[in-house]
Formats: sequence, C-alpha cells, structure tokens
Amino acid sequence: QGAQEDAENSLRELAALAETAGASVLDGLLQRRPHPDPATYLGRGKAEELGMIVANLGADTVIADTELAPSQRRALEDVVKVKVIDRTAVILDIFSQHAKTREGKAQVELAQLEYLLPRLRGWGESMSRQAGGQTAGGAGMGSRGPGETKIELDRRRIHSRMAKLRKQIQSFAPAREAKRANRKRNVIPSVVIAGYTNAGKSSLLNRLTRAGVLVENALFATLDSTVRKTRAEDGRRYTLADTVGFVRNLPHQLVEAFRSTLEEAADADVIVHVVDASHPDPASQIATVRDVLGEVDARDIPEIVAFNKADLADADARLLLRGLHPDAVFVSARTGEGVEELLERIQSLLPDLGTEVDVLVP
Ligand code: GDP
Repeated sequence: QGAQEDAENSLRELAALAETAGASVLDGLLQRRPHPDPATYLGRGKAEELGMIVANLGADTVIADTELAPSQRRALEDVVKVKVIDRTAVILDIFSQHAKTREGKAQVELAQLEYLLPRLRGWGESMSRQAGGQTAGGAGMGSRGPGETKIELDRRRIHSRMAKLRKQIQSFAPAREAKRANRKRNVIPSVVIAGYTNAGKSSLLNRLTRAGVLVENALFATLDSTVRKTRAEDGRRYTLADTVGFVRNLPHQLVEAFRSTLEEAADADVIVHVVDASHPDPASQIATVRDVLGEVDARDIPEIVAFNKADLADADARLLLRGLHPDAVFVSARTGEGVEELLERIQSLLPDLGTEVDVLVP
C-alpha cells in the first residue's frame, strides 16, 4: 500500500518535472511487479500496452520514472516506437535550462557528461545498427567497426572536457570562500530558505522581503540562489537567501551540482525550512531536506519549519502537521497568514552581534 502511494507521488512529481521542462503530459502508467524486467524494464506485455497508449494519444516521448539501463531503454524504444528517456534526463534538462551562474552551468554540464558517458555505447550501437543493417550478423556486431572508433573518440573528448570543467569548478571555490569571508567580516547574519521544489520558497522570499523575484508555477524557477538584504524590526540587518529546490530521488550524478548550490546553507545562521502543507507526504520531504542539509554540514544550524500554503490546509491537515512539528509556523505566501510570526521567529534566532557588556568588578 505504502509502495503504491509512494510510486504515485513520485509519478506526480515526474509529471510536474516534465511540464517544467516544457513537455505536456498526456497520461501515466504504473506497473506493479516484484522486480523490473531486465529486458524491457516494464515487461513485454506492459510495454506493448504502453505502446498502444502512446499510439492512441499520439505521444512522441515516454518518460520512465527511474534510471533505465541503456539496453532497457533501447528495448523499450523498440516496442513503443517513440523516444524513451528517464527521470535523470528530465532533471538534467531543467537544470541546463535554468543554470545561470558560471559555476552552476559548469556543474550542470559536468553532470550531463557524466550521465552521457555510460550511455554512449548504447547510442552508438543503435546508430550503427541503423546505419549498417545489411552487415549486422549477430547481437554484438553493431558495436564493432567504425562506430566503436567514433565512440572511443567521443569518449576521450568527453573525458578531457570533464577534466576541464572540474578544474574550472575548483577555481570557483576561492571566490565563494572570499564571498563568505567578506560576509562574515560584515557580520551580517544570514537566513537561508530551503525546501522542496514548488513548496513556495520564492513566493515566501517575496513576502518576507517584498523583493520582485520571479515566481513561476514551475519547479526550479529558482535554480540559482537569490540573496536579499533585509532588516529586522529592531533594525538589525540580515540577508535572506533562496536555495535550489529539492526533488525526490535526485539522481546521484546531480548531487554535486545540487549540493554546490546548497553550500551557502552551511554558513547560514538560521534556516527557514519551507514545507508545502498541501503535499500528500510532507514527512518524507522534511526528512530528505534534513538529510541533505546534514550532508552539507548545516545540521546544527537553528531551523524554523514553515508549513507554507496554509490557505490550502484544512483543520484536520493542520492538526496532523502540528503533530509532526509542534514548533512549526503556519504561513501562506499567498494570503500573508503567519508571515509576521515567521519574521518574529527569524528575528529571535538571529545571533546577537556587537553587544558590548560591561562587567563590573565589585
Ligand atoms: P519554489 O519552487 O519553492 O520557489 O515555489 P514557488 O514560490 O515558485 O511556488 C510554487 C507554486 O506554489 C506557485 O504556483 C505559487 O503561486 C504557489 N504558492 C506559493 N505559496 C503559496 C501559498 O501560500 N498558497 C498557495 N495556495 N499557493 C502558493
């Protein structure tokens, strides 16, 4: 039962991701089986059923909610007769559309090449299969000959490009350090907004700072973090920064790219962890966000859980969420509910700076 629900949630997110990437999603298909079929992932029968759905709807792409082995992807394509891609390809697509900084772009390109490398052989094979059909005499035939030489060349070129990108990324690190050091010298406390994609982070940032940040009803509207300067009621300044949204099952090749953008969270004085109160499974989202924050050494930073979209949560839902996190603040970036309370909470957690204490010695 839980597995079914989990698969449905994951599929829902995949659909949202695909739409963010610019696709329109026509249908979804869930296959329950103890293990993926090694040949076609879905199993022959289900793959054929999918092929019929594809033909009926006139779809041009199938997206699998998993990482497919190159051979599975090819076998599925043979059955459904349209392009088959996987979840990672979709996320990479979105990353590449939205990466803005030089470092972000380099990280994304590196992730793309890492993803491409093990798949070269598969593409090479199907390419030479098409090109040299008359000479193909056996299963492994297509992978030999000129096709393989070209792949070897491509592979070498990709490796050297990757090495270059890694160097570039390393060279960015000091700049980041300098920025951090600078901020520390200015002693401006920093507040970072983290949370799942589509939880309403940039809407909330807008509410909190009245900054004109782009808000899109799309995942990854804010791939690059946005920093705003703001001021607490008592006059203390602090920065408020939005971070890249989390996604379920982030492919491991993307973890580095994702993490590099989250690194600044490790230097934050306060983390506002935004959770979509209308999401079907907030508990697992909260757990994932906390796991990753732990990985970037942000575990010990004071955290405020903010259940956003409170306007969509009825009394029962609130009770449930309250049970999950008694200390959470309910907010709505849309209606403004709870925003004052959140600001007060942030203010109460800002470190006390520059307070001079006179010690009287009797
Ligand atoms: P982000 O990806 O976390 O930055 O999320 P966005 O700020 O882009 O918001 C995602 C979607 O949720 C947008 O369509 C927003 O209009 C919507 N949204 C954000 N906050 C609220 C809220 O408090 N209530 C409702 N009903 N929708 C919201």
